[in-house]
Amino acid sequence: MLVLVINSGSSSIKYQVREVSTSAENIAPYTSSMPAINERITLEQATVGVEGDQVLTKGLIENIGEGGDIADHAQALDVMAQRLDEALGGRTIDAVGHRVVHGGERFSAPVIVNNEIIRAIERLAPLAPLHNPAAALGLRAVEKKWPGLPQVVVFDTAFHRSLPEKAWRYAIPDSFYRLHGIRRYGFHGTSHDYVTGKAAEFLGAERESFNAVVAHLGNGASVTAIQGGTSVDTSMGYTPLAGLIMGTRSGDVDPSVLTGILTRDRSMSAEELDRILNKESGLAAIGGSNDMRDLTERTEAGDAKAALAMEMAAYRLVKYIGGYHVAVGGMQALIFTAGIGEKGPEFRKLVVDQLSALNIALDDSANAVRSDDIRVISASDSAIPVLVVPTDEERAIAEATAGLVTSRIQS
Ligand code: ADP
Repeated sequence: MLVLVINSGSSSIKYQVREVSTSAENIAPYTSSMPAINERITLEQATVGVEGDQVLTKGLIENIGEGGDIADHAQALDVMAQRLDEALGGRTIDAVGHRVVHGGERFSAPVIVNNEIIRAIERLAPLAPLHNPAAALGLRAVEKKWPGLPQVVVFDTAFHRSLPEKAWRYAIPDSFYRLHGIRRYGFHGTSHDYVTGKAAEFLGAERESFNAVVAHLGNGASVTAIQGGTSVDTSMGYTPLAGLIMGTRSGDVDPSVLTGILTRDRSMSAEELDRILNKESGLAAIGGSNDMRDLTERTEAGDAKAALAMEMAAYRLVKYIGGYHVAVGGMQALIFTAGIGEKGPEFRKLVVDQLSALNIALDDSANAVRSDDIRVISASDSAIPVLVVPTDEERAIAEATAGLVTSRIQS
């Protein structure tokens, strides 16, 4: 099955075509009269017998919208369709899987798309004003261009729907939650879910009883407490601004800092402060760069600001790891993933070297190995194994899409 994986932004569309092998035989053609599949089907159930590790083509369409080269998402799809025709040599797409940032409290798993689902994604726009409307535009554009082609949405928040209330509540008046949906949602769920499954399999552990701490460290970064294979706490919150120190995001700060600045500096708007916290803070604010490669090189050359930025980010992460180790009742593995987690041995060392109280120790030569494979980087006498598990969100989305579409066709 060929699955087109789409990540629609407001002015860009990122796409990838994956060949997914399904164990289902003689798949019947799709008909739009089929009922929507049960939303509660889990990603794991949905992906049984499905494997999607072959990328046939990928690309990025930019400058969509007002003032751009491409008028709207519909026109962007025309451009993409032409590129796909050339790249796929006459083969056609069987299904489309979309990454959607916010699934709110409703979505705890991927779902097959229908009109009501698109409207639900639009209704969640107040929670993700930049992302959800763009995703809805992408969904409608695909529906218009290829009527009847099955579409599946995979939500960044869904994996964290298993958080217990003590972890998702904020200790503020209930009306904030009831009226505005203000609570912890968590993000990067597709990645945390995917690497948890891969790590459990690699260690020969049953996912249902697997406890771990997963650090997804890209430009955006979050850490998740995994208990029994599910998410029980995560560092991002109501928005992806919370938690770890990231490329340009502050992560956790005392909320009074923000109200204090807004009260003292009347020329500063809430929007401007929000922009500064999201785009001009984090590693960039402390070390002068949001790029971990750059910070690592400068630290090695003796630059104190770069070194401080790395130390602060590592220290913040270490505190979360310690807390989550306790929260899950003892982790069986510490897992690093995404850009910095997979390719930043210096940063991993800064983190793991602070975990000696847990008798966790790195194997320096294993940590230095550059590889795209899942691997252990801890010393043989480390109390808890430390793993690098490459993430692949597109693969997870392609597999979930193929799984849902296949099971619907069979039912
Ligand atoms: P995104 O969140 O945009 O998907 P990525 O997962 O690609 O981000 O991670 C981006 C981060 O990974 C950047 O901070 C980048 O500097 C870092 N990174 C990429 N390659 C390396 C490397 N070889 N060594 C250290 N850091 C790296």
